[in-house]
Order: sequence, then C-alpha cells, then structure tokens
Amino acid sequence: MPSSRPAKIAVIGSGLMGSALARAFAAAGHDVAVWNRTSSKASAVGGGTVAFESLTKAVSGRELVVVSLSNYAASFEVLSAPGVAAALSGTTLVQLTSGSPSDARAGLAWAKEHGVDYLDAAILAYPSFVATDYATVYYAGSRPVFDRHADTLQSIAKNSVYVDEKIGAAATLDCAILEAYYGGSLAFLHAAAMCKAEGLDPKAFFAQKNSFLGLISVTADAAQGMIEKNDFTGDQCSLNTHVAAIEHIVRLSQDARISARFPKELLDNYKRAVSVDLGSQELPAVFRTLTQD
Ligand code: NAP
Repeated sequence: MPSSRPAKIAVIGSGLMGSALARAFAAAGHDVAVWNRTSSKASAVGGGTVAFESLTKAVSGRELVVVSLSNYAASFEVLSAPGVAAALSGTTLVQLTSGSPSDARAGLAWAKEHGVDYLDAAILAYPSFVATDYATVYYAGSRPVFDRHADTLQSIAKNSVYVDEKIGAAATLDCAILEAYYGGSLAFLHAAAMCKAEGLDPKAFFAQKNSFLGLISVTADAAQGMIEKNDFTGDQCSLNTHVAAIEHIVRLSQDARISARFPKELLDNYKRAVSVDLGSQELPAVFRTLTQD
C-alpha cells in the first residue's frame, strides 16, 4: 500500500544511496524512474523501478526529482546536459547530494533560473537504514514546497526534518553533525590505539562507552546554555585543569610511540583559549576562540 498518494518520481543517480532511495520510493507504492550515467547500474536497481537510458525522458512529467550523485560538480554537469533543464521545468528538485551550504545556494540559483522548485536535503543514514526509523533527512528551502511533498518524502525516512527556509540550513546541520561524528570517531579510535599500545585490551575501553558518551552529552547541554548566555563561568572544572589532562594524553601517546597528532591538535585548541585568559572558565569557553581568527 502506498504510504501517501502515489507520486511520479525520478531518482537521478543509481549509486549505493540513489539505488536505496529509489527502491524505498517504489516500495512505498510510487511510480519511480531511475537514471544513471552508467546505465547498467540503473537497470540493476530493481524493486519495481523503471530504468531510463535518456535523462530527459526519465525526468519528464515527474512531480518530484531526487538527485543523489557523488558531489555537486557531478550534479551540475548532469543538470546542464541539453534538454534537462527544460524537462525539469514545473517539477520539484530535491538535492540529496551531500555538499556545503554554498553548494546549496548555487543549486537554488540554478533552479530559480530554470523555473524549478528546489529543496536542498541531507541524509543522515547508511543506505541500509533508508526507509527505517534510523534514517533522518534534513530539508531546507521553501516551506510550502516541502509541505507539498512531505508525505511522499516520508517513504525514504520517517524522520523528515524541515530545518529552515535558508537554503544552506540542511547542509549546515549535516556538516555540524558529521563533524561531531568524525571528530568523535577519530577520538575513540585514538583512545583504543592508546590502550593497545599500553597493553590494555581496547575492549576494556569500549566497555566504558556509556561513560564517555554520557560526559559528551552533559558537556553538550552545558555548552548550549553557555553559548546562549555568552557566559562560560562555572564551578566544575577549569580549562587549566582540562589542559593538564590533555597533556597526559599527549605524553602517553609519545611514550607509547603512537601518533600524537590528534591530542596535540586538541591541546593547541584548548591552550589557545587559556592564552587569551579563559583558563579559569569552563571547557565550553573554547568556543570563544573558534568564532574568531
Ligand atoms: P556512489 O555509490 O559512489 O555513487 C555515486 C553516484 O554518482 C553514481 O551514480 C555515479 O555514477 C554518479 N556520478 C559521479 N560522478 C558523476 C558525473 N560526473 N556524472 C554523472 N554521474 C556521476 O555514492 P553514494 O554512496 O551513492 O553517495 C551518493 C551521495 O549520497 C553522496 O553525495 C554522498 O555523500 C551521499 N550520502 C551517502 C551515504 C552513504 O552511506 N553511502 C550517506 C549519506 C549521504 P556512475 O555509476 O556512472 O559512476
């Protein structure tokens, strides 16, 4: 049964993500055309989707066209092919290719120029999460355009989050979440390397996962309040004390002859805050040094 009124959709790009998105729309009962530069991949998507050799034919008459390509350069190359802009006129283009806020702004400018409604989107999921509760998609752009397609877009992620009218908002939020993810992941991988180098089984560290995730969670909540009030004073632990702790991590890494680049980079950032007289304030005071050169 369709989760909403059956819609005519085209998905441009049959890579890992584009294929999963196309199959999810089709599984929800929508009429789905797929196109890919390497046409054999479009034919392999299956799941009730229909592969087209011609991009203009794939997107013609579709109310929703979703783009999932490696990057915006690829997207602009594809959208600039002869006849494509004209075939898209009157449809809504949902750009699910990952990019930066300025990419999103360039995408909107292109869409306006060609009379195409445009939403910029960012998906926080692996392909196997698509259409499950674990997938979240952030959308930015015109609220009425989002509302018009909201039911259909639920087919790829139950958590469809409209972020803001500002077209760069979804990409901004995506970059922010991904930075926390990649930075946090590098931190716990380095932590596991320290344990191994010191002869402690990394599983002892991973068993404490809830401890470090809990600390991050509490600190994120505190940071949010402090940033809002622009007041980083407190009575829990000064930046001076945190700097001393990071120095231990650098020393352990050097003594154990593993890479110390990551903790040194941390130390640099925290010390910079101390050097501008923030040493007696709480950890989130580092934020002040990140918002200026
Ligand atoms: P992928 O499997 O490598 O697929 C890349 C797609 O882009 C293919 O369809 C490829 O076509 C196409 N492409 C690349 N350059 C092109 C060009 N110049 N002209 C036309 N088509 C071109 O990548 P993916 O994992 O599906 O990722 C797609 C998007 O989803 C990316 O923006 C990625 O950041 C985002 N994303 C992915 C994940 C994930 O877990 N995979 C998660 C979140 C977001 P060919 O087949 O012809 O090469």
